[in-house]
Amino acid sequence: MAESTESESRKLLSRLQATMADGGAGQERLDRITHLIADSMGTEVCSIYLLRDPDTLELCATEGLAPEAVHVTRMRLGEGLVGRVARRARAINTANAPSERGFRYMPETGEERYSSFLGVPIQRLGERLGVLVVQSKEERQFSDDEVYALEVVAMVLAEMTELGAFTGEGEAMSARHKNPVMFRGVVGQEGTAMGRVYLHEPRVVVTRPISDDPEVEVERLQKAVDELRVSVDQMLSHVAPGSGEQVQVLEAYRMFANSRGWMRRMEEDIARGLSAEAAVEKEQSAARARMETVPDAYLRERLQDLDDLSNRLLRLLTGQGQDTGAEMPDDPVLVARNIGPGELLDYGRKLKGVVLEEGSVGSHAAIVARALAIPLVINAARITQEALNGDLVLIDGDQGIVHLRPEETVKTAFRDKIAMQAAAQERYASIRDKPAETRDGQVISLTMNAGLMADLPSLPSSGAEGVGLFRTELQFLTRAQVPRRGELAALYSRVMDAAGGKRVVFRTLDIGSDKVLPYMKPTDEPNPALGWRAIRVGLDKPGVMRMQLQALIRAANGRPLTIMFPMVAQLDEFTDARDHLLREMDREAALGHKLPEKLEIGAMLETPSLAFAPRKFFELADFVSIGGNDLKQFFFAADRENERVRRRYDTLNVSFLTFIEQIVHRCADADTPLSFCGEDAGRPIEALCFAAMGLRSLSMRPASIGPVKSLLLRSDLREVRKVINAARAEGTQSVRPAVTDWLRQQT
Ligand code: PEP
Ligand code: MG
Repeated sequence: MAESTESESRKLLSRLQATMADGGAGQERLDRITHLIADSMGTEVCSIYLLRDPDTLELCATEGLAPEAVHVTRMRLGEGLVGRVARRARAINTANAPSERGFRYMPETGEERYSSFLGVPIQRLGERLGVLVVQSKEERQFSDDEVYALEVVAMVLAEMTELGAFTGEGEAMSARHKNPVMFRGVVGQEGTAMGRVYLHEPRVVVTRPISDDPEVEVERLQKAVDELRVSVDQMLSHVAPGSGEQVQVLEAYRMFANSRGWMRRMEEDIARGLSAEAAVEKEQSAARARMETVPDAYLRERLQDLDDLSNRLLRLLTGQGQDTGAEMPDDPVLVARNIGPGELLDYGRKLKGVVLEEGSVGSHAAIVARALAIPLVINAARITQEALNGDLVLIDGDQGIVHLRPEETVKTAFRDKIAMQAAAQERYASIRDKPAETRDGQVISLTMNAGLMADLPSLPSSGAEGVGLFRTELQFLTRAQVPRRGELAALYSRVMDAAGGKRVVFRTLDIGSDKVLPYMKPTDEPNPALGWRAIRVGLDKPGVMRMQLQALIRAANGRPLTIMFPMVAQLDEFTDARDHLLREMDREAALGHKLPEKLEIGAMLETPSLAFAPRKFFELADFVSIGGNDLKQFFFAADRENERVRRRYDTLNVSFLTFIEQIVHRCADADTPLSFCGEDAGRPIEALCFAAMGLRSLSMRPASIGPVKSLLLRSDLREVRKVINAARAEGTQSVRPAVTDWLRQQT
């Protein structure tokens, strides 16, 4: 690249910087910028189009086109040459615009006189913001250098737009990150919340896009890249053997960090006047734009790696770490691309709500959100790009909708909804101490699911009769090392104290699948949900399970104790686990510890195979609890974490209900108490149908007990059963429509 063009470009950027420093209102600045660019590039026209909404571009400033067209001329994404630049996020450079495919003539602008056209996208990190255009009468193709220079200017404009340089009080321009935006996601956990955005990984803000000393900037970049290389190498040397996927990602990082092409492009950007961080971001933007259009999954993943790497580099250059020190607002709503269960637990109950861009309903992060009773919306596409720390946000967890920076009317409607829910909760409080007895005299035991000490205060307030499922893995997930026996015994003992003599069903450690312990060597399994998890780990490596069983016996200290094993798929897994427990009882007794006055040993029925186990299993088990989340995924062969397939199969599908009925019969035959503790037990219509199929014990999150009980109290299970049987006889796939209709007629 010629030194002269580089310095031209730098000169343009420093003039741009001076223009910005002059102050003035947003519109004035835009006008000055178009004037300056046309002047520097030697073109008659320079125009800036910005996106009004995700589909509409508006001419916001121009030098050369008719001034009356400003804020009047609009086009849709993809329409005309300008619209095409924005849609494809790629420059268009033509000597003869009117002959170009897609050209659209806009008479109000007077642009018919201009032949050559160069348009470049204004974008920030893959987010379209607008288009920067120069045009001239003379029929000429702009040189590569000119294209490049205009792209650099567009990059700076993007940063300035992001920083709000073109907006102000009463401006005609729409402000970035100031408008209300609504996101339609997927319900992760019901409930409503109003709070302020707290970003899990805040966006890096580039406050200094222009620099006049390229040498210093190249040096800064070089130093940061060196640091990055060292840290990638360190990460690689710490990866446990066998974790192929992690190595693959880090190798890709290393490849990019050592890539000459990547470095060279950034150095060229710096030579043209960008600061080191703006150069990194320019490359990152280009990679993100490519990511949207690349059909190949492997390539997309590599671009994703480059994106992550660029983020690391930006954090090194700007000093904005993962923790930017942004203060957590009073009513924090966590916004993140994704989050693991351990990280979510670290935030704990402080959070008013959680919104994830990715995530899945069956994931354990979602279960943690449920355990914490925090409204959760997942799959809210692009929210991490739109939201800023401190923005007002409303979560409608019942509909899976998120309102960011909502308008007054939305806020009012939302407050009304919250008030109505509070009134409903009051109604539930009035039935709290009543048994859940149906109109036909069947009493259903309602218990709660828990996993944290902090859940226990909900026991009396929800009206739960006990804890039907205590997930013990949450304590293991939050620690850097395996918790010690004494520590666990103390915790379990406190849980029993807090339950005040009510039954607590402790489920032994259920790890594997997405519940990865930070201190456990990750195993590279093709399908972890069907892999080495739960009781399979417990039986193959019994050390931790035995320690946990000892802790439970010690915690009971003579009190009754109830333990169940997860993911039991066949009889011998149950007998082996049970033998372990009985052996631990003997050992504890020999050590002089008090044994529980009563011990119940149960199994979770989470694989269809167990429903067909020999009768001996049902006789041996003191109780059985259906883990519907897992059972459903295996029954329908549909991953509980895969949003694409998960929702194809309704829990009220007649096949599933018939299967539940068979389990009820098998347990009744052997006189084995049966309960259901998956998430579906907490959904009133599902709970009602389960009760109609014969289940007499349901365990759910505390907030569901009121709504479920309220429906049970009003219902006659014989009638519900008739509706279900009629639907089954008709060959209906799901009984939901029939049951919902019937319920509607009842009110
Ligand atoms: C289930 O599978 O229904 C269950 C309760 O266990 P978890 O969700 O913890 O796998
Ligand atoms: Mg399970």
